[in-house]
Amino acid sequence: MESVKTAKVQIHPQEKDAQLLLESIRVYAKGCAFVSEYIFRTKDLSQVSVQKHTYATLRSEYGLPSQMACNVVRTVIGSYKTNRTNRNPWTLCEYKNPQMTLSWNRDYSLNKERFSVGTLYGRVKCTYDIKGVERYFDKTVYSFGTAKVVCKHGKFFLHISVSAEMDILNDTDVVNVVGIDRGINFLANTYDSKGRSKFYSGRAIKNKRAHYKELRRELQSKQTPSARRRLKAIGQRENRWMRDVNHCVSKALVESNPKGTLFVLEDLKGIRHATERVLRKDRYEAVSWSFYDLEQKLGYKASENGQKVIKVDPTYTSQTCPKCGHIDKRSRHKKVHTFVCTNCGYTSNDDRIGAMNLYRMGIEYLVESQGSMSSLGGAQSIAPDVTSASK
Ligand SMILES: [Zn+2]
Repeated sequence: MESVKTAKVQIHPQEKDAQLLLESIRVYAKGCAFVSEYIFRTKDLSQVSVQKHTYATLRSEYGLPSQMACNVVRTVIGSYKTNRTNRNPWTLCEYKNPQMTLSWNRDYSLNKERFSVGTLYGRVKCTYDIKGVERYFDKTVYSFGTAKVVCKHGKFFLHISVSAEMDILNDTDVVNVVGIDRGINFLANTYDSKGRSKFYSGRAIKNKRAHYKELRRELQSKQTPSARRRLKAIGQRENRWMRDVNHCVSKALVESNPKGTLFVLEDLKGIRHATERVLRKDRYEAVSWSFYDLEQKLGYKASENGQKVIKVDPTYTSQTCPKCGHIDKRSRHKKVHTFVCTNCGYTSNDDRIGAMNLYRMGIEYLVESQGSMSSLGGAQSIAPDVTSASK
Protein backbone atom coordinates (compact mmCIF):
# COMPACT_ATOMS: atom_id res chain seq x y z
CA MET A 1 0.00 0.00 0.00
CA GLU A 2 1.18 3.49 -0.70
CA SER A 3 0.27 6.54 1.31
CA VAL A 4 1.25 10.17 1.06
CA LYS A 5 1.74 12.82 3.70
CA THR A 6 3.25 16.27 3.86
CA ALA A 7 6.31 16.97 5.99
CA LYS A 8 6.97 20.59 6.90
CA VAL A 9 10.41 21.88 7.81
CA GLN A 10 12.00 25.27 8.20
CA ILE A 11 15.00 25.92 5.99
CA HIS A 12 17.84 28.30 6.81
CA PRO A 13 19.40 29.88 3.74
CA GLN A 14 22.34 32.27 4.21
CA GLU A 15 21.52 35.88 3.66
CA LYS A 16 22.60 36.18 0.02
CA ASP A 17 20.96 32.85 -0.81
CA ALA A 18 17.80 33.94 0.93
CA GLN A 19 17.63 36.90 -1.46
CA LEU A 20 18.08 34.58 -4.43
CA LEU A 21 15.47 32.21 -3.16
CA LEU A 22 13.02 34.98 -2.41
CA GLU A 23 13.51 36.50 -5.86
CA SER A 24 12.93 33.08 -7.46
CA ILE A 25 9.79 32.29 -5.58
CA ARG A 26 8.43 35.78 -6.23
CA VAL A 27 8.95 35.35 -9.94
CA TYR A 28 7.46 31.89 -9.69
CA ALA A 29 4.39 33.30 -7.97
CA LYS A 30 4.12 36.01 -10.64
CA GLY A 31 4.27 33.30 -13.28
CA CYS A 32 1.50 31.51 -11.42
CA ALA A 33 -0.61 34.67 -11.36
CA PHE A 34 -0.12 35.05 -15.11
CA VAL A 35 -1.16 31.46 -15.84
CA SER A 36 -3.99 31.77 -13.35
CA GLU A 37 -5.44 34.71 -15.25
CA TYR A 38 -5.27 32.72 -18.46
CA ILE A 39 -7.06 29.76 -16.87
CA PHE A 40 -9.62 31.93 -15.12
CA ARG A 41 -10.48 33.52 -18.46
CA THR A 42 -10.49 30.39 -20.63
CA LYS A 43 -11.41 27.67 -18.10
CA ASP A 44 -8.78 25.61 -19.85
CA LEU A 45 -7.42 22.95 -17.47
CA SER A 46 -5.41 20.80 -19.83
CA GLN A 47 -1.69 20.72 -19.06
CA VAL A 48 -0.77 20.44 -22.74
CA SER A 49 -3.03 23.21 -23.90
CA VAL A 50 -2.29 25.65 -21.04
CA GLN A 51 1.40 25.06 -21.55
CA LYS A 52 1.07 25.74 -25.26
CA HIS A 53 -0.52 29.12 -24.58
CA THR A 54 1.65 30.32 -21.72
CA TYR A 55 5.06 28.67 -21.98
CA ALA A 56 6.71 31.17 -24.32
CA THR A 57 5.70 34.12 -22.12
CA LEU A 58 6.80 32.35 -18.94
CA ARG A 59 10.20 31.80 -20.51
CA SER A 60 10.76 35.16 -22.20
CA GLU A 61 8.92 37.67 -20.00
CA TYR A 62 9.33 36.04 -16.62
CA GLY A 63 12.68 34.45 -17.34
CA LEU A 64 11.69 31.10 -15.87
CA PRO A 65 13.82 28.08 -16.75
CA SER A 66 12.01 25.41 -18.74
CA GLN A 67 11.35 23.05 -15.84
CA MET A 68 10.05 25.86 -13.63
CA ALA A 69 7.72 27.06 -16.38
CA CYS A 70 6.19 23.57 -16.59
CA ASN A 71 5.89 23.45 -12.80
CA VAL A 72 4.09 26.79 -12.79
CA VAL A 73 1.47 25.43 -15.17
CA ARG A 74 1.07 22.26 -13.09
CA THR A 75 0.78 24.23 -9.85
CA VAL A 76 -1.95 26.51 -11.15
CA ILE A 77 -3.97 23.74 -12.78
CA GLY A 78 -3.73 21.92 -9.44
CA SER A 79 -5.15 24.91 -7.57
CA TYR A 80 -8.14 25.19 -9.90
CA LYS A 81 -8.81 21.48 -9.74
CA THR A 82 -8.71 21.53 -5.94
CA ASN A 83 -11.16 24.40 -5.93
CA ARG A 84 -13.46 22.50 -8.20
CA THR A 85 -13.27 19.37 -6.04
CA ASN A 86 -14.18 21.45 -3.01
CA ARG A 87 -17.03 22.97 -4.97
CA ASN A 88 -15.76 26.48 -4.53
CA PRO A 89 -17.16 28.98 -6.99
CA TRP A 90 -15.09 29.66 -10.10
CA THR A 91 -12.84 32.44 -8.85
CA LEU A 92 -9.40 33.64 -9.76
CA CYS A 93 -6.73 31.68 -7.86
CA GLU A 94 -4.26 34.09 -6.36
CA TYR A 95 -0.66 33.55 -5.36
CA LYS A 96 0.04 36.23 -2.83
CA ASN A 97 2.47 34.33 -0.64
CA PRO A 98 5.70 33.79 -2.49
CA GLN A 99 5.88 30.07 -3.22
CA MET A 100 7.47 27.66 -5.61
CA THR A 101 6.77 24.02 -6.40
CA LEU A 102 9.72 21.69 -6.95
CA SER A 103 10.16 18.23 -8.39
CA TRP A 104 12.33 15.80 -6.50
CA ASN A 105 15.82 15.34 -7.96
CA ARG A 106 15.22 17.83 -10.75
CA ASP A 107 14.53 21.06 -8.86
CA TYR A 108 15.51 20.02 -5.39
CA SER A 109 17.30 17.39 -3.41
CA LEU A 110 17.55 16.70 0.26
CA ASN A 111 20.01 14.77 2.36
CA LYS A 112 20.40 14.62 6.11
CA GLU A 113 22.55 17.76 6.17
CA ARG A 114 21.44 19.92 3.29
CA PHE A 115 18.54 21.06 1.20
CA SER A 116 19.56 21.96 -2.34
CA VAL A 117 17.32 23.85 -4.74
CA GLY A 118 17.52 25.24 -8.24
CA THR A 119 16.74 28.97 -8.41
CA LEU A 120 16.57 31.40 -11.31
CA TYR A 121 20.26 32.00 -10.90
CA GLY A 122 21.73 28.64 -10.06
CA ARG A 123 21.66 26.28 -7.12
CA VAL A 124 21.25 27.25 -3.51
CA LYS A 125 22.19 24.94 -0.66
CA CYS A 126 21.19 25.41 2.93
CA THR A 127 20.67 23.70 6.26
CA TYR A 128 17.23 22.86 7.59
CA ASP A 129 15.52 21.54 10.73
CA ILE A 130 15.68 17.80 10.31
CA LYS A 131 13.76 17.07 13.52
CA GLY A 132 10.65 15.04 12.74
CA VAL A 133 11.70 14.07 9.22
CA GLU A 134 14.69 11.78 9.89
CA ARG A 135 12.60 8.67 9.40
CA TYR A 136 11.72 9.66 5.84
CA PHE A 137 15.31 8.99 4.82
CA ASP A 138 14.66 5.28 5.13
CA LYS A 139 14.53 4.60 1.41
CA THR A 140 13.09 1.13 1.86
CA VAL A 141 9.86 2.71 3.08
CA TYR A 142 9.67 6.35 2.00
CA SER A 143 10.24 8.40 -1.11
CA PHE A 144 10.12 12.15 -1.62
CA GLY A 145 7.73 13.70 -4.10
CA THR A 146 7.17 17.33 -5.00
CA ALA A 147 8.04 19.99 -2.48
CA LYS A 148 6.92 23.56 -2.06
CA VAL A 149 9.11 26.40 -0.84
CA VAL A 150 7.05 28.96 1.01
CA CYS A 151 8.09 32.28 2.49
CA LYS A 152 6.09 33.52 5.44
CA HIS A 153 7.01 36.48 7.64
CA GLY A 154 10.57 36.42 6.36
CA LYS A 155 11.04 32.73 7.17
CA PHE A 156 11.39 29.97 4.64
CA PHE A 157 9.62 26.65 4.85
CA LEU A 158 9.68 23.52 2.81
CA HIS A 159 6.54 21.41 2.47
CA ILE A 160 7.62 18.02 1.18
CA SER A 161 5.18 15.37 0.07
CA VAL A 162 6.42 11.99 1.23
CA SER A 163 4.97 8.71 0.05
CA ALA A 164 5.43 5.55 2.00
CA GLU A 165 5.48 1.95 0.92
CA MET A 166 4.12 0.28 4.01
CA ASP A 167 4.62 -3.18 5.37
CA ILE A 168 1.48 -4.99 4.52
CA LEU A 169 -0.19 -6.93 7.29
CA ASN A 170 -0.52 -10.55 6.21
CA ASP A 171 -4.05 -11.91 6.26
CA THR A 172 -2.76 -14.84 8.33
CA ASP A 173 -1.61 -12.41 11.06
CA VAL A 174 -4.99 -10.74 11.50
CA VAL A 175 -6.20 -11.03 15.11
CA ASN A 176 -9.11 -8.61 15.05
CA VAL A 177 -11.63 -7.42 12.46
CA VAL A 178 -13.44 -4.09 12.71
CA GLY A 179 -16.28 -3.10 10.39
CA ILE A 180 -16.51 0.67 10.03
CA ASP A 181 -19.69 2.20 8.73
CA ARG A 182 -19.54 5.86 7.79
CA GLY A 183 -22.66 7.93 7.58
CA ILE A 184 -24.06 11.36 7.13
CA ASN A 185 -25.67 11.53 10.54
CA PHE A 186 -22.79 9.92 12.40
CA LEU A 187 -19.05 9.93 11.85
CA ALA A 188 -18.37 6.26 12.16
CA ASN A 189 -19.93 3.21 13.65
CA THR A 190 -17.82 0.17 14.38
CA TYR A 191 -18.30 -3.49 15.14
CA ASP A 192 -15.39 -5.74 16.09
CA SER A 193 -14.36 -9.36 16.70
CA LYS A 194 -15.42 -9.22 20.34
CA GLY A 195 -18.91 -8.17 19.37
CA ARG A 196 -18.38 -4.64 20.59
CA SER A 197 -20.11 -1.71 18.93
CA LYS A 198 -18.74 1.76 19.09
CA PHE A 199 -20.46 4.87 17.92
CA TYR A 200 -18.59 8.01 16.91
CA SER A 201 -21.37 10.52 17.10
CA GLY A 202 -21.69 13.02 14.37
CA ARG A 203 -24.16 15.38 16.00
CA ALA A 204 -21.55 18.05 16.59
CA ILE A 205 -20.36 17.55 13.03
CA LYS A 206 -23.85 17.84 11.67
CA ASN A 207 -24.49 21.03 13.60
CA LYS A 208 -21.26 22.58 12.49
CA ARG A 209 -21.95 21.61 8.88
CA ALA A 210 -25.37 23.22 9.12
CA HIS A 211 -23.75 26.33 10.53
CA TYR A 212 -21.33 26.52 7.60
CA LYS A 213 -24.14 25.84 5.18
CA GLU A 214 -26.11 28.74 6.60
CA LEU A 215 -23.08 31.03 6.32
CA ARG A 216 -22.57 29.96 2.74
CA ARG A 217 -26.18 30.59 1.87
CA GLU A 218 -26.03 34.10 3.26
CA LEU A 219 -22.86 34.89 1.37
CA GLN A 220 -24.04 33.33 -1.85
CA SER A 221 -26.99 35.66 -1.93
CA LYS A 222 -24.66 38.66 -1.86
CA GLN A 223 -22.89 38.92 -5.15
CA THR A 224 -20.10 41.19 -3.95
CA PRO A 225 -16.39 40.46 -4.33
CA SER A 226 -15.90 40.52 -0.57
CA ALA A 227 -18.71 38.00 -0.11
CA ARG A 228 -17.04 35.76 -2.68
CA ARG A 229 -13.74 36.04 -0.87
CA ARG A 230 -15.35 35.22 2.44
CA LEU A 231 -17.16 32.30 0.85
CA LYS A 232 -13.87 30.86 -0.27
CA ALA A 233 -12.24 31.45 3.10
CA ILE A 234 -15.14 29.71 4.83
CA GLY A 235 -14.84 26.74 2.49
CA GLN A 236 -11.18 26.43 3.34
CA ARG A 237 -11.85 26.77 7.05
CA GLU A 238 -14.51 24.07 6.86
CA ASN A 239 -12.14 21.73 5.05
CA ARG A 240 -9.37 22.30 7.58
CA TRP A 241 -11.76 21.61 10.40
CA MET A 242 -13.08 18.44 8.73
CA ARG A 243 -9.55 17.20 8.16
CA ASP A 244 -8.82 17.72 11.82
CA VAL A 245 -11.94 15.78 12.84
CA ASN A 246 -10.90 12.93 10.54
CA HIS A 247 -7.43 12.98 12.01
CA CYS A 248 -8.88 12.53 15.50
CA VAL A 249 -11.31 9.78 14.51
CA SER A 250 -8.74 7.78 12.56
CA LYS A 251 -6.28 8.16 15.42
CA ALA A 252 -8.86 6.91 17.91
CA LEU A 253 -9.72 3.93 15.70
CA VAL A 254 -6.10 2.94 15.25
CA GLU A 255 -5.16 3.41 18.90
CA SER A 256 -8.17 1.62 20.34
CA ASN A 257 -7.48 -1.53 18.32
CA PRO A 258 -4.54 -3.94 18.57
CA LYS A 259 -1.79 -4.62 16.10
CA GLY A 260 -3.06 -7.10 13.53
CA THR A 261 -6.43 -5.39 13.11
CA LEU A 262 -8.18 -5.52 9.78
CA PHE A 263 -10.46 -2.50 9.22
CA VAL A 264 -13.29 -2.99 6.75
CA LEU A 265 -14.73 0.05 5.01
CA GLU A 266 -17.33 0.51 2.35
CA ASP A 267 -15.84 1.23 -1.03
CA LEU A 268 -15.99 4.96 -1.67
CA LYS A 269 -17.47 4.54 -5.13
CA GLY A 270 -20.52 3.02 -3.52
CA ILE A 271 -20.59 5.70 -0.85
CA ARG A 272 -20.62 8.42 -3.44
CA HIS A 273 -23.52 6.75 -5.09
CA ALA A 274 -25.37 6.29 -1.82
CA THR A 275 -24.85 9.85 -0.65
CA GLU A 276 -25.88 11.09 -4.04
CA ARG A 277 -29.19 9.40 -3.59
CA VAL A 278 -29.62 10.64 -0.06
CA LEU A 279 -28.42 14.17 -0.46
CA ARG A 280 -29.11 14.85 -4.13
CA LYS A 281 -27.59 18.17 -5.03
CA ASP A 282 -27.06 19.02 -1.39
CA ARG A 283 -23.28 18.93 -1.11
CA TYR A 284 -22.85 15.19 -1.48
CA GLU A 285 -19.42 15.85 -2.95
CA ALA A 286 -18.24 17.45 0.24
CA VAL A 287 -19.41 14.42 2.16
CA SER A 288 -17.64 11.97 -0.10
CA TRP A 289 -14.56 14.16 0.00
CA SER A 290 -14.49 13.90 3.77
CA PHE A 291 -15.08 10.12 3.63
CA TYR A 292 -12.18 9.84 1.27
CA ASP A 293 -10.03 11.95 3.56
CA LEU A 294 -10.89 9.74 6.54
CA GLU A 295 -10.04 6.68 4.48
CA GLN A 296 -6.63 8.09 3.56
CA LYS A 297 -5.80 9.02 7.12
CA LEU A 298 -6.96 5.71 8.51
CA GLY A 299 -4.99 3.81 5.86
CA TYR A 300 -1.85 5.69 6.66
CA LYS A 301 -2.10 5.41 10.43
CA ALA A 302 -3.16 1.76 10.28
CA SER A 303 -0.18 0.75 8.19
CA GLU A 304 2.15 2.53 10.57
CA ASN A 305 0.60 0.53 13.36
CA GLY A 306 0.71 -2.99 11.88
CA GLN A 307 -2.94 -2.84 10.85
CA LYS A 308 -4.61 -2.58 7.50
CA VAL A 309 -7.73 -1.38 5.71
CA ILE A 310 -9.74 -3.14 3.03
CA LYS A 311 -12.72 -1.84 1.11
CA VAL A 312 -15.71 -3.90 0.18
CA ASP A 313 -18.76 -3.52 -2.01
CA PRO A 314 -21.33 -1.67 0.10
CA THR A 315 -24.42 -2.83 -1.77
CA TYR A 316 -27.16 -3.90 0.65
CA THR A 317 -25.03 -3.40 3.78
CA SER A 318 -27.95 -1.69 5.48
CA GLN A 319 -30.59 -4.22 4.36
CA THR A 320 -28.77 -7.47 5.00
CA CYS A 321 -29.32 -9.46 8.17
CA PRO A 322 -25.92 -9.79 9.82
CA LYS A 323 -27.01 -13.08 11.38
CA CYS A 324 -28.58 -15.06 8.54
CA GLY A 325 -27.54 -13.01 5.51
CA HIS A 326 -31.11 -12.50 4.29
CA ILE A 327 -31.48 -9.36 2.16
CA ASP A 328 -34.74 -7.47 2.43
CA LYS A 329 -35.24 -3.75 2.61
CA ARG A 330 -38.39 -4.31 4.66
CA SER A 331 -36.14 -5.52 7.50
CA ARG A 332 -35.12 -1.96 8.08
CA HIS A 333 -37.49 0.36 9.86
CA LYS A 334 -35.87 3.72 9.41
CA LYS A 335 -38.30 5.77 11.43
CA VAL A 336 -37.89 3.75 14.60
CA HIS A 337 -34.19 3.01 13.95
CA THR A 338 -34.78 -0.69 14.21
CA PHE A 339 -33.76 -3.63 12.11
CA VAL A 340 -35.93 -6.75 12.28
CA CYS A 341 -34.92 -9.55 9.94
CA THR A 342 -37.95 -10.71 7.96
CA ASN A 343 -36.38 -14.16 7.74
CA CYS A 344 -34.92 -15.06 11.17
CA GLY A 345 -36.30 -12.29 13.37
CA TYR A 346 -32.89 -10.98 14.43
CA THR A 347 -33.45 -7.54 15.95
CA SER A 348 -31.05 -4.68 16.50
CA ASN A 349 -30.66 -0.93 16.39
CA ASP A 350 -30.43 -0.15 12.66
CA ASP A 351 -27.39 2.08 13.12
CA ARG A 352 -25.12 -0.83 13.79
CA ILE A 353 -26.32 -3.16 11.04
CA GLY A 354 -23.98 -1.55 8.48
CA ALA A 355 -20.92 -1.99 10.69
CA MET A 356 -21.92 -5.59 11.53
CA ASN A 357 -22.28 -6.45 7.87
CA LEU A 358 -18.95 -4.85 7.06
CA TYR A 359 -17.44 -6.91 9.86
CA ARG A 360 -19.02 -10.04 8.37
CA MET A 361 -17.60 -9.16 4.95
CA GLY A 362 -14.16 -8.75 6.53
CA ILE A 363 -14.46 -12.28 7.96
CA GLU A 364 -15.57 -13.58 4.57
CA TYR A 365 -12.61 -11.86 2.98
CA LEU A 366 -10.26 -13.63 5.40
CA VAL A 367 -11.96 -16.98 4.94
CA GLU A 368 -11.56 -16.63 1.20
CA SER A 369 -7.95 -15.56 1.43
CA GLN A 370 -6.79 -18.33 3.76
CA GLY A 371 -9.32 -21.12 4.04
CA SER A 372 -10.34 -21.09 7.70
CA MET A 373 -10.55 -18.56 10.48
CA SER A 374 -10.74 -20.62 13.61
CA SER A 375 -9.21 -17.99 15.89
CA LEU A 376 -11.82 -15.41 14.98
CA GLY A 377 -14.87 -17.58 14.74
CA GLY A 378 -16.98 -17.91 11.65
CA ALA A 379 -19.27 -15.34 10.14
CA GLN A 380 -22.25 -16.94 11.88
CA SER A 381 -21.06 -16.18 15.38
CA ILE A 382 -21.02 -12.44 15.01
CA ALA A 383 -24.31 -11.53 16.56
CA PRO A 384 -23.92 -12.35 20.27
CA ASP A 385 -27.16 -10.77 21.42
CA VAL A 386 -30.24 -9.13 20.11
CA THR A 387 -30.11 -6.03 22.22
CA SER A 388 -28.81 -2.85 20.72
CA ALA A 389 -25.72 -1.44 22.30
CA SER A 390 -24.77 1.15 19.82
CA LYS A 391 -25.56 4.29 21.69
ZN1 LIG B 1 -31.85 -12.92 9.62
